[in-house]
Amino acid sequence: MHIDYSEYLDQKRPCVICKNDNFELWCRDGEFEVLKCIECELVFVNPCLNQKGLDLVYQGHHNKRVSDKDEWVKRKSMYKIDRDFLIEIINEGSILDCSFIEPIQG
Ligand SMILES: [Zn+2]
Repeated sequence: MHIDYSEYLDQKRPCVICKNDNFELWCRDGEFEVLKCIECELVFVNPCLNQKGLDLVYQGHHNKRVSDKDEWVKRKSMYKIDRDFLIEIINEGSILDCSFIEPIQG
């Protein structure tokens, strides 16, 4: 199901780093524009979603992740491949895993 997020876009804002208001279009993805600041070259989505839009994105994202069991099994397998790859190429230190749904034990 495609959701039209255009009604959830906030006002366009100045650059969050240098406060400049001059941008060039860096790319577009549907209703989202990614702008590049002319002064400091920061690239960011502008305008971004308002709180209602963010709630919609993350609620849908979470529900999809937990409801699609086949995708979850594939994702879990992918995480293990990623972990094994990291363990193979890193020969010292630690790996910080920021997953929040189900940690994979090493
Ligand atoms: Zn800037």
